[in-house]
Order: sequence, then C-alpha cells, then structure tokens
Amino acid sequence: MLLKNVSSRVEQIFFSEIADKDVAVFMKREDELHPFISGNKYRKLKYNLEQAQKENQETIVTFGGAYSNHIAATAAAGKEFGFKTIGVIRGDELANKSIVDLHKNPTLKFAATQGMEFHFVTRTAYRKKTETLFIQELKNIFGEFYLVPEGGTNQLAVKGCAEILDENDVDYDVICAAMGTGGTLAGIINASSNEQKIIGFPSLKGDFLAAEVRKFVTKNNWEVNLDYSFGGYGKINTTLIHFINAFKKETRIPLDPVYTGKMVFGIIDLIKNDYFAKGTKILLIHTGGLQGIDGMNQLLIKKKSPLIQ
Ligand SMILES: *Cc1c(COP(=O)(O)O)cnc(C)c1O
Repeated sequence: MLLKNVSSRVEQIFFSEIADKDVAVFMKREDELHPFISGNKYRKLKYNLEQAQKENQETIVTFGGAYSNHIAATAAAGKEFGFKTIGVIRGDELANKSIVDLHKNPTLKFAATQGMEFHFVTRTAYRKKTETLFIQELKNIFGEFYLVPEGGTNQLAVKGCAEILDENDVDYDVICAAMGTGGTLAGIINASSNEQKIIGFPSLKGDFLAAEVRKFVTKNNWEVNLDYSFGGYGKINTTLIHFINAFKKETRIPLDPVYTGKMVFGIIDLIKNDYFAKGTKILLIHTGGLQGIDGMNQLLIKKKSPLIQ
C-alpha cells in the first residue's frame, strides 16, 4: 500500500462570533493527515498512486498553477513513493526565470526539493491540457507517464475523497467543504447519508461547479453556495485576512486563504444569519492547503496589505 487508510480527528469549534447561536460546529482536521501531502490532496492521490503502480508507471505528470497545493502534494508523494514527477505549470513567463528566482516561490521551491521537474506552458496552451494532442506532445518529450488531471480530480480521486467521512460522522446534520474542481465535495456526497445536507463553498466564481459535481454523484442532498468566493480564485481582501487571523487566534486552527478561509467565513456568516435550525450539528472539513499561506503573504507584502498570521 502506498498512502495508508487513515482517519483524521474531529474537534469542536468555539468561536465568539457565533457564541450566542444554538448550533454546534465541529472541524475534521484533514490538514493533519500528512506533513506535505495535505488534506484532500492525500485523498485524491491515494488511488491514483495505486493505479500508477499497477500500470508499472514510473513517472507521474500533473498540472497546476505556480502556488498549487496539488503540485506540492504530488511532488511530495513522488518523493515518498519513488515516482518521478513532472509538473506542467501555468505561465510560460516562469520558463525564463533563473532557479534563484523560481525558488522565491515557496511552492515551486518545495516541489523542486522533492525532485519535481517543471514544464512551463503559456496560459493558452494550458487551457488545452485535457486535449489528446497536448498530452501526446508531453509524451513525445517525457515518454510514458501516468496522468493526474489538474486539481487531481478524476473518478479515483472522488473514490479517495469518500474516505474523508467515516462511521462516526453519521450524526452531523450538515457537512461543509471548500470547492476548486468539486471532486472533494463529490466524494463527500457519495459517502454521506440521505438525511445529511452537504454544502460546497467555491473558492472561485463557481457557477459551473454543480455540473462538475453531478458527473460523479447521483444523490440530491447537496447544494453549492456561490456567495463566498470573494471575487475569484486566489482573490482575497482584508475582511477575509482579518477573519482568518481572528479565527486562528481564538481556535488555534490555521486556515488557508484560497480555500478553507473562504469556506469557514461563509459558514460563520450563514450561522450568524440564522440560516440553520436550532440544534443543527455542522461538520466542517479542513482540506489543508496551508502551504499556500507563505506564497500569499509574499503577494500581500507587495500590496502593503495586512498579512496572514
Ligand atoms: C485543492 C483544494 C480544494 C479543492 O478541492 P476540489 O476537489 O478541487 O474541489 C479545497 N481545499 C484545499 C485546501 C485544497 O487544496
């Protein structure tokens, strides 16, 4: 076995902004599953790594932006289990940068130390990443490989994400998770009971995401809340930064700015507005992503913005 079957711990959240509300909020700490193969990326890689091994593939190719949690996790998994990894990175302006400059990006620096090789492509080429011709061109350069799609989402990833929930989680009325591609939410929906309500919070303008989720699920016990994307992927503002810092100060739980920060902001706002019936038990999934904080803070320093603590 490559990545093991594991369960993360659940802790109750006590946060002053909702102290007067009669709901109970808990968090499942998937961010603690592995120091580098964090959160839902562990779940998404698990069966994909097994499949790569079954196919006797020595190389894994995957895709991502320059700050991608998935790139960092795939690089670490490759190092741990002996796969060569190649990251196809969006943005060919990076191709001409020196190693020293590339290593100013904490995600790429980490991935490089794990042995990942980079292939930088233009934003236009990157959009063609699922096309046969584009993949054939990669095979011409790198030889045979096992391909993990952007964000790691495919059928095997959704199967892995179903393991986020276990038999102890049947008592929660509502389960919430952040969304990028929707694969994680799909796995959670598949593992949920019909009495539970699953809510996804897109980290981007995610009006297409419900359709993505539907490719992997048949249940109807879920919804996508589009109100807390903060204007798009990687976009944040000082309200969100102050929230993440206040939440950490009170609960000791760090949130990442791209995914979990927006999801927890959203759920707290819904609770404040009495969206849930009295006595509702809510489980938040901490999907990890904390490696992204350093990269975000570098951008915030340039903007003279407050930083994520
Ligand atoms: C990648 C990621 C997500 C999004 O997962 P999807 O399956 O693509 O929806 C959510 N949270 C964190 C921390 C992530 O790194």
